[in-house]
Amino acid sequence: MISRFTRTFIFSCVCLLLIGTVFFLNPPIHLQWDADNNEWFNTDGVPHVPVDVDRHIASGHVIMGKLGNETAKAALGRATWKLLHTMTLRFPEHPTEDEREALRSYIHLTSRLYPCGECAEEFQTLLKAHPPQTSSRKTASQWLCYVHNLVNKRLRKDQFDCTKLDDTYDCGCGDDPSEKKGEHLIKGG
Ligand SMILES: Cc1cc2nc3c(=O)[nH]c(=O)nc-3n(C[C@H](O)[C@H](O)[C@H](O)COP(=O)(O)OP(=O)(O)OC[C@H]3O[C@@H](n4cnc5c(N)ncnc54)[C@H](O)[C@@H]3O)c2cc1C
Repeated sequence: MISRFTRTFIFSCVCLLLIGTVFFLNPPIHLQWDADNNEWFNTDGVPHVPVDVDRHIASGHVIMGKLGNETAKAALGRATWKLLHTMTLRFPEHPTEDEREALRSYIHLTSRLYPCGECAEEFQTLLKAHPPQTSSRKTASQWLCYVHNLVNKRLRKDQFDCTKLDDTYDCGCGDDPSEKKGEHLIKGG
């Protein structure tokens, strides 16, 4: 007959062995910041790539609550549409996969973090039916115009003529020909 003490001892050993095995198979990742390359590295020197973080974060729930103030809601809407339309109209003509993913994620994150919660809920539903189109500047800007018109329709506002996008959103902020794309930003100038 095994005594109660022995049984407890064996049970504890088995538990410790199991925990040790799990820890051994999935050691905690220690990250180090490489200031020269602006990159996180694992302690084994491999660049740290946050797998699936974008997909996970971008598809989450709406974060903000209801925005009761109609004046604030309208002002926020106008400012946000201005930002989004200007963004898609300055998006690259031939974006890389990384640039496309950045825009997709931005739109999806906007649908989570938009400060008017009830608008964000509606926007998420809209995005499920009409996912962001990011293959080119033209595609992205026309997609956004179409989506904005769907919101207009729901709110019983006039439809916008999407052939007039370029005239309406000519911000006078074309690329500076003397600068290579993004170079001045990297230099911090
Ligand atoms: C993602 C999102 C979701 C929203 N959801 C809601 C909601 O659920 N309920 C709510 O009350 N408000 C919502 N709003 C706010 C709403 O869309 C308006 O911004 C707000 O009511 C102010 O309307 P507005 O008449 O000034 O014109 P806005 O719709 O804000 O448009 C601003 C200007 O953009 C131009 N424009 C209009 N349509 C288009 C288009 N299709 N493409 C390009 N340019 C265009 C016009 O020049 C217009 O004057 C939302 C805003 C956003 C950004």
